[in-house]
Formats: sequence, structure tokens, C-alpha cells
Amino acid sequence: MTGSSGEVIGLVGGWLLWRLRPAAIAYVLAVQAVALALVVLVFVTSRSPLSNELLTFTMLAATAGTVIVITSVSINVRRQIRRNPWTLHIAYLAAGILTLPPNLLVLLLLGPTLHGVLDGRPELHRWLFTTAATTIATLSARFLIGWSEPHWSPVLFVLAGAVLLVVRAFLVAVGIRLRNPGAARADVLGEPIDVLLGIVAASLGGLLAVAVSIEPGSAPLAGPPLVLLDLASQLPQWRRSAQRDAKTGLANAAHWERLARNELHRAQARGQPVSLLLLDLDHFKRVNDEIGHLAGDTVLAAVAMMLRSSVRREDAVGRFGGEEFVVLLPGKDTDVACDAADRIRTSTAALSVPTRDTRGHHRELNDLTVSIGVATTSRFGYDLTDLLVAADAALLTAKSAGRNAVTLA
Ligand code: GH3
Ligand code: MG
Ligand code: MG
Repeated sequence: MTGSSGEVIGLVGGWLLWRLRPAAIAYVLAVQAVALALVVLVFVTSRSPLSNELLTFTMLAATAGTVIVITSVSINVRRQIRRNPWTLHIAYLAAGILTLPPNLLVLLLLGPTLHGVLDGRPELHRWLFTTAATTIATLSARFLIGWSEPHWSPVLFVLAGAVLLVVRAFLVAVGIRLRNPGAARADVLGEPIDVLLGIVAASLGGLLAVAVSIEPGSAPLAGPPLVLLDLASQLPQWRRSAQRDAKTGLANAAHWERLARNELHRAQARGQPVSLLLLDLDHFKRVNDEIGHLAGDTVLAAVAMMLRSSVRREDAVGRFGGEEFVVLLPGKDTDVACDAADRIRTSTAALSVPTRDTRGHHRELNDLTVSIGVATTSRFGYDLTDLLVAADAALLTAKSAGRNAVTLA
């Protein structure tokens, strides 16, 4: 293979687009085609910009470009991975929608490309798709407030921001759904904080538009708030890594303990019972020793998913330690808790986990069992440590009784 054909294959392989399902490929290509057609239409139909529009564009582009370079360099220097870089782009695009003619507005859309180059993102097709979705949303918002001459009214400002955010979120959400039909709601629509960040970005863009329409030279004043906005958009990632266990996605031990103490406090004030389940997978070391540690990790993730789907939303499920899990059941007394524990025990035995062994061969793991200790506030009171000690003792009894069992403390 020659060097150049190797590079071409590497590039196409790097796109990863062709690995998607056919419906997702068709959708991604359609969104990109519509965005491209809109950009061509803008350049064919727009008049040449006036000198004051060019000045506004230069100030907005220089401010956005500087912020993009500063944030990208600082992320690269600290070897961090940026989550949701789009919050920053939404802010200056919103300002452009309100102040620039469509052809200069389209040039502002080079910002995400600059960002992509500086960040060296591996999934190029994803980046192109999101840029295309953002292009369509940006031009839709511009269309709403007047294509060639924008109408400045507070209601239209708000509507333009809403169209920018909603159209973009919708196009991206459909793409994620088609790419991964089983994706969690938060992965498709974003978390509530992502919505808030979008609103803050669009509002900052509105303020920036007002500022540059009075004095184009005021644009750099938006630099520091834009850097702060970009930092704020990393908050959900920091919060998640502080509260979640990376392998299973469950609450980690410290976070679960806080949730459990809060829940116990609340239940005590209301005089309601609470039950605690402490689970330990049986002979888990064998999975690691006989099939491999990666297979062990896959089992832990599968058990975590089963646990989540076996209990109610308000029940706190956590990873307590290695192959130990905890479930707090607010409002549930002995009988219901033992029933829940037995359901979990049966579901564990019914689990079939596809994994690979250390030689890379496919293995289906079936014979998993779990032992569970149950403790309730009606017997041990509302102190978390007392409940855990009682549940642990019950768990030991279940283990010595032969495992694959539920024992009540
Ligand atoms: P028992 O029925 O008595 O509980 O037997 P066991 O083998 O499950 O108990 P033991 O405590 O001896 O072993 C627990 C094992 O869990 C040991 C450790 O290698 C494994 N383990 C702990 N955390 C992880 C993890 O994150 N990933 C993997 N793959 N294994 C883990
Ligand atoms: Mg253990
Ligand atoms: Mg064990």
C-alpha cells in the first residue's frame, strides 16, 4: 500500500460515519446537504456588506476567535477533554444573528471549525454534523427576525434565541436517537443544566449584539464572560465525575452515603420506614481469574443496569465497593424490601452478559449469583452506620448459608 492511499483510507476510517446505521448515515448526510445548500443560497443572494457591518463582523470574529484560541490552548495544556464546547459558539452566533447580514453570519460559523482544528477532535463526521445542525438553526433564527434587515424588538430577540436553541437541539437529538436508539434521555436532550447553559449563552449573545450595535469596539468586553461561560459548560462533567462511579454509572460510595443520610433524615421526620439492601456478588473473583478483568467490569456494569431497572426512581442505588452494591428503599418495610431483594437475586441469576475472554473470544456469562443482606429502620433505627452494620452481618449469614440467598437482619 502506498503512503497516500494509506492516508486516504486512514482519513475515511477516521470519519467513522460509515459504521453508523443506514438511517443515521442518511440523516447525517441530509442535514449536511441542507446546511451546504443554505450556505450557497446565502452567498448567491446576499448583497455585499456595508463598512459598518464589516467592522461589527471583525470585532465579533476577533473576540470569538481569541476566546476559542485561549480556551483551546488552556484545555490542551491541562490535557483535559472539553465537554459541550458549543455553549461558547451559541453566544457569539446569537450576537451575529442580530447584527450581521447573512453572508457575514455564515463566516462566523467558521468559529466551530477553528475550534475543531485546535482540539484535534477524532470524530470528524460528528463535528461536521453538529456544525451543519448549528448552521441550519442559526439561519432559521435569522430568517425569523428578517433575512436581509433584522427587526429589533425584545419579543423577536427572545424568539430568535429560542429558535436557535430548539432547532439545534432537535436536529442533534434526532441524530443521536438514530445513531443509538437506546441512548439515555440525558444523552439525547442534554441535562437540565445544558438547557440553562444554552439560555445563558443566547442571552449573553443578545447583550453582546446590543453592545456592538451601539459601539462595535465594545465586543472584546464579552471575552472574559465567554471564557467563564466555556468553563461553566464543563460543570456537569465535573459534577458527574465527583458523584458517579465510572465503571457502572451508579452513585459512588461517598455520594450514595450523602443521599442515604438525607433520605433517612427525611423519612425519620415523617415517621416512614426505610430499608437497606447490601449486595455482594458470589465468587466474583472467579470471573476475573477465569475470564479476565475486563469481563469482570462488563458484569459489574450489567448488574448495575439490572439493579437500576429493578427498583423505583426514588430508590438510591450505589456502588459500595468492588463487587458490592447498596440500595436504599425509602418508604418500604421488611416484607416489601425482602421481596425486592429476592427479585434482584432472581434477576441476577437470569442475567446473560456478553463478554470477551482474555484471548478475545466471545463468552456469554450466565451463572451469576448474589447474596443480599436486608436491614430496616423498624428494627435498627435511622442511623446509617447501624443499618449498614446490620445489613453486613445479614450478608455474611447469607454467604455462610451457601450464597445466592437473601437474609433479613
Ligand atoms: P464471595 O462469594 O465470598 O463474595 O467471593 P468473591 O470472590 O466475590 O469475594 P472476594 O471479596 O474474595 O473477591 C471480590 C473480587 O472482586 C476481588 C476483586 O478482584 C474483584 N473486584 C473488585 N473490584 C473490581 C472491579 O472494579 N473490576 C473487576 N473486574 N473486579 C473487581
Ligand atoms: Mg466483596
Ligand atoms: Mg463477592
